[in-house]
Amino acid sequence: MRHARFLRDVEKSLREFDRTRGVFPSPYPTPKQRATCIFCGGSPVNREHMWPQWAHGYIPKGKRKWRALHLREGIDRTDFIITNHGGDPHDFQVRCVDERCNNGWMRDLENRVKPILRPLITGKETRLVEADQEAVAAWIALKAMVQEYAPHSAVISHHKQRKRLFEKQQISRKSWRVWIGRYAGNRPDELWITTPALLLPDRIVRRKKSRAATYYNSQAATYVLGELLIHLLRSPDTLGVRLFQFHPAVRWKLRPIWPPTGLSIVWPTAGLSAAEGLFVARAFRNEVQRTAKAVMT
Ligand SMILES: [Zn+2]
Repeated sequence: MRHARFLRDVEKSLREFDRTRGVFPSPYPTPKQRATCIFCGGSPVNREHMWPQWAHGYIPKGKRKWRALHLREGIDRTDFIITNHGGDPHDFQVRCVDERCNNGWMRDLENRVKPILRPLITGKETRLVEADQEAVAAWIALKAMVQEYAPHSAVISHHKQRKRLFEKQQISRKSWRVWIGRYAGNRPDELWITTPALLLPDRIVRRKKSRAATYYNSQAATYVLGELLIHLLRSPDTLGVRLFQFHPAVRWKLRPIWPPTGLSIVWPTAGLSAAEGLFVARAFRNEVQRTAKAVMT
């Protein structure tokens, strides 16, 4: 029964998104200055700290500068932009939400995940039930959407996704996947990696005259907070999202938290080394590159 439904879903996704993707080298579309809140449309918008005070102790901090690595994937090349943020990721601010959201549902969500995240971040024993996993997934989606509006970032989310998060504190089960893992490496600052991409159905790729991407619709992102590694994947290519698999070498160390599995997670899990963490962060990029090459040849 379940199997039949899965097949029906797959067929439906195939019709909607005929299986092939294109990824394009691109100029760097910089998000426009927002006059209205990205979630509710309200104004004025304020500068907000991306990471709340309580999380600061777990975010890479030091005298050296914090570097964010932005990867732009092309068919025949990879572009890197490394942005130097003045000294400290703690001060990373984005101007894109209004007071009502910030002090309302965003604060509520923050307060809800704080006690769930703390043992994950510090490697203490805990158990995450489905509702906890859902809250963490919504929280990281919120961070990822806010980050889209930071300098050198790319807007990826459709406004309907932001509206859904605002109204229900939930993300789509089909176009988002989120995993957590325990990071046992020693280079957490290497892992603040976001990989935006443009994935398009084959019929559109064939019509497209230029390979330049003027927007993005997909992303893989990895964040490390203390001992917690969070990885997210999102794309309108729902079949691609559904079928994406990590290599078995790291898969068993990761726990999917979105879409819901119905399973509790017992923590701590087996730790990911620094190399395995990087492998996880790059897995989606590698798969997209493989697919893109296959399409082109
Ligand atoms: Zn708002």
